[in-house]
Amino acid sequence: MRIDVENLAEAGRAFEHAYEPGALELDSESASLSREARVAGRASRRGEEIRVKGKIEAGIEVACDRCLAPIAVPLEVEFETAFIPQERAAAAEENVELHAEDMGLAAFEGDAIDLDELVREQILLALPNRHLCREECRGLCPTCGADLNAGGCGCEHKETDPRWAALADLKKEKE
Ligand SMILES: [Zn+2]
Ligand SMILES: [Zn+2]
Repeated sequence: MRIDVENLAEAGRAFEHAYEPGALELDSESASLSREARVAGRASRRGEEIRVKGKIEAGIEVACDRCLAPIAVPLEVEFETAFIPQERAAAAEENVELHAEDMGLAAFEGDAIDLDELVREQILLALPNRHLCREECRGLCPTCGADLNAGGCGCEHKETDPRWAALADLKKEKE
């Protein structure tokens, strides 16, 4: 969905939209919508700047970092983003060596703001970096891939201590 800003007044206009799962790609290998995502808010203008303020409610499905089991993450994100026209952002960068992004400003092209992009970004920002189905998740057998939470798999391997698994996760994050 796009928010038309051409005739947007200072008082602003309310918007509301619901994304069915599948209607909004998160562009992430590990996360997807598990239920409808709703966004509601208000867009208003101050000079050339457009402020978009609102709230997203969504259910996201991510995979456990260790055993890949699906985990449901309910999200509630409040956001407030200021947009300036693309050409103004480009001019600002050339003249004052100030990047629009550094000022906490986003840019929009034409006369509409891409709400899908905004919602996607806000959801990805709000997701935790680590997802574990539970702290003591034993993960998958490195040899046969069996889920070690479900019991032994018969492979020769030392018992995996969950604390070592946690260290391995940390190492993975640093790489
Ligand atoms: Zn797990
Ligand atoms: Zn095994």
